[in-house]
Amino acid sequence: MVGLVLVCHSAKLAEGVAELAAQMGGQSLRIGVAGGLDQPGDPLGTDAARVARSIEEVWSEDGVLVLMDLGSAVLSTEMALDLLPDERRGHVMLTEAPLVEGAVAAAVAAGLGDSLETVAAEARGALAAKAAHLAPQAAPGLAGAAQAAQGPTLRLTVENAVGLHARPAAMLVRTAARFDANVTVANVTTGRGPASARSLNAVATLGVRRGDEILVQASGPQAEAALAAIRRLADDDFGDPHEARPQAGADARTGRSVPVEADAASLSGPPPASGSVLQGLPASPGIAVGKARRLRAAPVEVPHRSSQDPQADWAALERALIATADDIRRARAAVAARASDYDAAILDAHLLFLEDEALLGPTRSGVFGEGKSAARAWADAVAAAVAAWQALDDPYQRARAGDLRSVGDQVLRHLLDLAADAGPRGAILDPGAAGIVVAPELTPVEAAGLDPAHVVGVACAFGGPTSHGAILARSLGIPAVVGAGRSLLGVAEGTLLALDGEAGTITVDPPAAAVQALEDRSAWRAREQAEAQAQAQLPAVTRDGVVVRVEANVAGPEDARAAVAAGADGVGLLRTEFLFLEADHLPTEDEQEKAYRAVAEGLGGRPLTLRTLDVGADKQLPYLPLEREQNPALGLRGIRLGLRHPELLKAQLRAALRVAADHPVRIMFPMFATVDEVRRAREVLDEARASLSAEGASVPERIEVGIMVEVPAAALMVEAFVPYVDFFSLGTNDLAQYVLAADRGNAEVAALADALHPAVLRLIDRVARAAAEGGRSVAVCGEVAGDPLAIPLLLGLGVTELSMAAARIPLAKQAVRATDLGAARRLAARALAAESAAAVRELGPR
Ligand code: PEP
Ligand code: MG
Repeated sequence: MVGLVLVCHSAKLAEGVAELAAQMGGQSLRIGVAGGLDQPGDPLGTDAARVARSIEEVWSEDGVLVLMDLGSAVLSTEMALDLLPDERRGHVMLTEAPLVEGAVAAAVAAGLGDSLETVAAEARGALAAKAAHLAPQAAPGLAGAAQAAQGPTLRLTVENAVGLHARPAAMLVRTAARFDANVTVANVTTGRGPASARSLNAVATLGVRRGDEILVQASGPQAEAALAAIRRLADDDFGDPHEARPQAGADARTGRSVPVEADAASLSGPPPASGSVLQGLPASPGIAVGKARRLRAAPVEVPHRSSQDPQADWAALERALIATADDIRRARAAVAARASDYDAAILDAHLLFLEDEALLGPTRSGVFGEGKSAARAWADAVAAAVAAWQALDDPYQRARAGDLRSVGDQVLRHLLDLAADAGPRGAILDPGAAGIVVAPELTPVEAAGLDPAHVVGVACAFGGPTSHGAILARSLGIPAVVGAGRSLLGVAEGTLLALDGEAGTITVDPPAAAVQALEDRSAWRAREQAEAQAQAQLPAVTRDGVVVRVEANVAGPEDARAAVAAGADGVGLLRTEFLFLEADHLPTEDEQEKAYRAVAEGLGGRPLTLRTLDVGADKQLPYLPLEREQNPALGLRGIRLGLRHPELLKAQLRAALRVAADHPVRIMFPMFATVDEVRRAREVLDEARASLSAEGASVPERIEVGIMVEVPAAALMVEAFVPYVDFFSLGTNDLAQYVLAADRGNAEVAALADALHPAVLRLIDRVARAAAEGGRSVAVCGEVAGDPLAIPLLLGLGVTELSMAAARIPLAKQAVRATDLGAARRLAARALAAESAAAVRELGPR
């Protein structure tokens, strides 16, 4: 009896299919499964040795049929054949049959005692029934053409503005791949092709531009359905937004007039004209004039060595491909969450590169046929494909070579273990290329890696001013504008930009007079800043003699030193998550203690407010994969995550308490909605303290505990929280986003999430009153705390402490010194009665 082997990326999938097939094939049927990997935390993948073992287990003289899922499953199975003794290899057949239907059909045939050839034929034909059932409805519009004399072909004129560039080509490849059909595409206009529609490289390098005619041909059981789906896709401009169709007067052939060069152009629209002003959102004050610079991947050096062990080399490549796919999926989720699914779809094309036979085929031959190392073979295959892209006529499509190169390098970095050395996503600025960083959006990690010596400004197409990338730019004192729109990404490398971080504008290729005006303003600001800096170390006392603590929001020891230099009276918010975000593993309690101690030591005895881990939403830890959430900002973030994983929270609290034994540390928990959460968080704190005491460690007798007020429910119920806390700190970034239901990271709506909206001010008022009544202090540590215009208003509402990016402290202290609390209270009363944030801003000199 013929044996069957199922090779799948997932062990669960393999077992499920085997169970189904076994039901059909009867008891004596032998089915082997080779699913998944034995790697904790990385269970998806295929392994040649495991496949070879499964073949041996179900071995029969009658033969073994192997069914596989996709991509590397095929490669692993081919390698497994090499591991079998010669006499057995001839009795093993690999089939392209669909996994589930094929396994079921093969099981029936094998169970009946059919020959290997018959079992394989059954498996291959297994989709026929499904196709017959579904195809007539799936392809009604195509029926005539499909039955025309020349067989199932489809001629189309490509109408979308940029032709079959990466994203539309990826859509086509994905669409074709959904069907049991062999699909090819040729560019009739240029005579290129036919090319397999399974290969993104092959399709995209046909050089199909707008107006070109293509011929799509299909064979196989689902040929017609495949063509119908491709027709629908073409009717929908291959998923491009309709605004991508050329405007009247634009180049009728390409729909564009200027080439787009950089990797980020994947997300861009047409480049903005010289002198145009892009209006974004102010994210970090200051003025910058400089050349546009993109973060680009550090080049990867591939050592010249031949392969010692091709099997091991190949397995390492497969792991690198999987790791890269994980990175890309994470990036995709982040872009989709903050921009749109359309913007994120370019990353689908990047994923397809990883599965592309046009790259894997030559790599395989390099490793197994030419003795190259996997890195060398992969680098060569990528270089050849990059050269093919670069040879295309269309500048837009040529630019995709950059995408491929950067994905290729990502794989190499994993393969050569360079991921950590190269910094976040391997992103660097060209050495010596000072200027304004232009990016779709900065992740917190990328922003943390910016060197103010080289980066004079940051311009982002997406994101909001309280997104964490923007917050970090502010903490580094780098002027920034976010949410400037997709067209920013069309700006060519090296174009002069003038960025105004207060007005939120970016002028492209500005006229000399505009540059002069900005530089004058910048000089005036520098003088004002210098005056404030000269008094920064003095306390901030209002005109009527009330001392206001002005503290810093920091992410690590370096920030703490900068905070002290800027005159911080302490740290009002240590965002501990940045220690976690920068690590490639979960930091241990000892590592945490060391990091927190370094911050405390940098403060020279000033108080340190340590906020417990606030990840989730836009701050994701690569090594702590969380379930995908529909609404991460409303999901398992902040204290919710800590209470779900109390062992994590406890380790952090133990680390904090160990530091608190020697330094003035207070603990602050983020993201409370209910009093019960505070009780539970305090229980974990008690456990942490008890466990340290039991070990004989010294712990402070008493430690101040506070909560961030970020959820409207907590603000509305503030009295209920009073008995459990020593202080409150208003996280106005999140509070505003939740009050106004406006995602702080989404440029489309981020401006709505304005902490000066009266709805937010009324909650601040409520919290400040309850805090005062209960004898608790109340701080603001959201971004509004550092806005000199908002400071009198916050003080008038009863806020007693302010915490902000260090760079803003000197001017903030000046704003406190200019405030008279009586006048501030009257201002606050008027603000509470105003009808909008704009009206609050118009309340005049405060
Ligand atoms: C806030 O929400 O205002 C806050 C300070 O916390 P974060 O910005 O880190 O979410
Ligand atoms: Mg917050």
